[in-house]
Amino acid sequence: MVRIKARIVIALGGNALGETLSEQMIELKITAKAIVDLVEAGNEVVVCHGNGPQVGMIDAAMNELSKVNNKYSKCPMSVCVAMSQGYIGYDLQNSIREELLNRNIKKSVSTIITQVEVNENDNAFRNPSKPIGRFMTKKEAISAIKKGENIIEDSGRGYRRVIASPSPIEIVEIDTIKALLEREEIVIACGGGGIPVVREGNHLRGVHAVIDKDLASCQLAKSIDADCLIILTTVEKVAINFQKENEKWLDEVSITEMKRYLDEGHFALGSMRPKVEAAIEFVSSRKGRRALITLLEKAKEGIEGKTGTRIVNYK
Ligand code: ADP
Ligand code: MG
Repeated sequence: MVRIKARIVIALGGNALGETLSEQMIELKITAKAIVDLVEAGNEVVVCHGNGPQVGMIDAAMNELSKVNNKYSKCPMSVCVAMSQGYIGYDLQNSIREELLNRNIKKSVSTIITQVEVNENDNAFRNPSKPIGRFMTKKEAISAIKKGENIIEDSGRGYRRVIASPSPIEIVEIDTIKALLEREEIVIACGGGGIPVVREGNHLRGVHAVIDKDLASCQLAKSIDADCLIILTTVEKVAINFQKENEKWLDEVSITEMKRYLDEGHFALGSMRPKVEAAIEFVSSRKGRRALITLLEKAKEGIEGKTGTRIVNYK
């Protein structure tokens, strides 16, 4: 599906990055191969990644620190997102760097600590929907609810804490990202959906939220005039009637058809829904733009049009 010299935004699923630090390094070696395949084919690549499990882990660790030593106050969620961008970007840029060197490709790769502006009055602040952190049992979930936390059941996989996930409005460091792309460098940006901030004159204030990386990737893809948005996740395809008897996996779908499925409520809030929304918005925004949602390990086949769900603006 990708023509040579396309500008591509790849959105990597937080869950697909592995749960622990050592798992992440292993997963990212596979990811780097898929990314460098695209670079080798002559495409310009910008990588965005999720941080749902990771930001929850950082938040939990920082909370423990504040419990053992009262010198440390609770770490703001915006700072937890910044930390997640740092350590995921570190592993990701090094795995891509190594894969490039292995193939004798001379290109720099860097991670941009990216802030994304949100609206403080976004409805999302009243309706937390983004699952973060580890999966909990029902018993753990009930006890967390008693402590005042917002918990949901996440697509049949267990219970998870949810946090506000406002819409991305503007990428603060967009000019830096564009400048690096002009120099044909590989950029990792908007990690974890970007650090959520609100503008207060010249000051940017971090807010308690986690932006969905799928929507941030869409914003990023539009801002850099990309041709293609590839969302790599933990399922090979998008389904309608997901996990029901009449479940049907989708191959190539027009935006009109996808919008209908979205309105019919086929995609879970906080997981598949933002991916589909991002794909529809990106593909609708300019003729010739394409989106693909597939499994991380199937990226290459998906890009060749052999698997995954492709969202197109014809039909
Ligand atoms: P990521 O970290 O890649 O963003 P998410 O957990 O947010 O991953 O979203 C992927 C998950 O969405 C899948 O693992 C699946 O359980 C869930 N999901 C919910 N609805 C659907 C659907 N209609 N089709 C496919 N997967 C779905
Ligand atoms: Mg997600």
